[in-house]
Amino acid sequence: MADDTRPPQDGSGPGDMRKELERYKIVVAELQRKIKGMEAQLSTATTMAEMPQVIVTKPKLHETLQRFIRKVAMISQAEKAAIMLYSPEDGELTVLPPALGLTAEQVKFLRVKATEGVTGLVFREGTPVVFNDAVRDERTIKDNVAFLNVRNGVTVPLIIKKRDEEDKVVEQRTIGVMHVFNKRMGMDFNEEDVRLLQMLAEQCAAIVSNAQLYIQLSEEKEELEETLQSIKAGVVAVNGEGEIRLVNSAASTALGSAAVDLVGRPFQEAIVDERIKAILNDALESKEEVSREISLGEGREARHFQAQASVMRGDNGVVQHVVAILNDITDIRNVERMKTAFVSTVSHELRTPLTSIKGFIATLLEDEEGYFDDATRREFYEIIDQQCDRLTRLISDLLNISRIESGRSLDLHLTKVFLVPVCERILAAQQSYTDRHRLKLEAPEGFPEIIGDQDKIEQILDNLLGNAIKYSPDGGEVTVALFDEGKTIRIDVSDQGLGIPERHRERIFERFHMVDDDVDHRSVKGTGIGLYLVKALAQAHKDGSGEAGDVWLAHSVVDEGSTFSVRLPKAADEGKAQA
Ligand code: ADP
Repeated sequence: MADDTRPPQDGSGPGDMRKELERYKIVVAELQRKIKGMEAQLSTATTMAEMPQVIVTKPKLHETLQRFIRKVAMISQAEKAAIMLYSPEDGELTVLPPALGLTAEQVKFLRVKATEGVTGLVFREGTPVVFNDAVRDERTIKDNVAFLNVRNGVTVPLIIKKRDEEDKVVEQRTIGVMHVFNKRMGMDFNEEDVRLLQMLAEQCAAIVSNAQLYIQLSEEKEELEETLQSIKAGVVAVNGEGEIRLVNSAASTALGSAAVDLVGRPFQEAIVDERIKAILNDALESKEEVSREISLGEGREARHFQAQASVMRGDNGVVQHVVAILNDITDIRNVERMKTAFVSTVSHELRTPLTSIKGFIATLLEDEEGYFDDATRREFYEIIDQQCDRLTRLISDLLNISRIESGRSLDLHLTKVFLVPVCERILAAQQSYTDRHRLKLEAPEGFPEIIGDQDKIEQILDNLLGNAIKYSPDGGEVTVALFDEGKTIRIDVSDQGLGIPERHRERIFERFHMVDDDVDHRSVKGTGIGLYLVKALAQAHKDGSGEAGDVWLAHSVVDEGSTFSVRLPKAADEGKAQA
């Protein structure tokens, strides 16, 4: 500073005094001007340094605030500094980390109601408060003063100001407060501190609210993108100029190209499939919704889609985007196809035993002279009996399926079930239909009784044994093995038959699903509902804790055989079963 700014010396005369005073005024004015300049500098410097173009992530906001809060503490020579934001949901202000000079615990637990203390006062009134004796000041909350170890402080409001072109404030909103506590070296805070802090608080409010807005927007955008990526339908968006703007993962699978190879390119050039191109093109040209069914891929790998292209217009009515949605309807089509096949197989399956029953009865009726001996007659009756069993089984399968399909539960009639004799009886009945297979039972000594629905367990065994025989055209051994597992029992049904190719192993439990890869499987008559039903019957058995029974393919090797396992709770519970 120049010499002429030096203060007056003691013992000066009154004329000198006035002169000195005049000089002082000039010096003060000069200093004020300098301070203003520095403030402006500080303001731009802080804004530039602290506020990157856009803060879009939480870590970035944290980092920026950390630098900012340090600067605040440095400028105001405070030991502690913290930002508190108001949450309208709970009417409280809480600390927005990071804070300076506060422990993690203090940051976490400090909450102040908007109606209480200096924090509440500053937040409500929107004007700063200086308190130089925190313990005695009646406006402070004494618990918080002790909790944070506060001696003195300044609290300024965080106000977001919206300005017009002439820099006039047209709208403002208080979002929280900024505190500095404990001026260093035992000093008091003064008006100058308040002025500086108010200025910094305005920047802080802008940083926080902008960042929060951006973070919220970018999080929402991310969420939207994730949702779009995860939906099962394919989505392709093209802008008004025909440039691909978005391809989600289902669409990129359907189109056979990675999204990075498609986005940003004209769809006419980037998309290979002519039909998808045509849909987008027609929607763009007609400016109307286009909907049609298309198939992508060949043969068994073909997928069927319901493709729908919608037009999105801006406020001015101009087409901004065309969004095509590819809905994979392959499974629906397959089920429809299977259902048709099912109806014809079921009719056939019903007619076969009926023809046989009618034929034998007619033969017996015609034999008025007693041409057939007793043994032959008995054989005919046995055949009729077996065919009746076959019909009954099929009809009860169909009834159960219709129960499941209509969402009704499979009612259980629970009794004690002695599995060993039940298995022996079913094995004997099944053995009577075949002499190419050797059916046997393996059960440990003293196998326990269980509580279950005997009729349903018999249906499970009938279906699995029936399959084991049907799908072992060359015969072989069919084994039923029983295992005691503690709270549950397991029944394994093994055969030495055709086995099940890998790609069908999960799907054989779906309704109407039949292995159609090889002639052997195809030549066996089936309806594709047996295993679906077995699963439903096993799962209907639940114990007191809600643990349900199940069936699964435990092991299968093509041309060597398969093992199906059924697990049932030892004590099924009627209440649970109905649930
Ligand atoms: P289906 O009436 O056709 O036998 P299921 O639901 O019982 O219907 O079985 C579904 C499909 O699983 C069958 O079509 C068959 O291809 C296959 N499958 C079932 N059990 C066996 C087995 N033990 N060995 C080989 N394939 C089997």
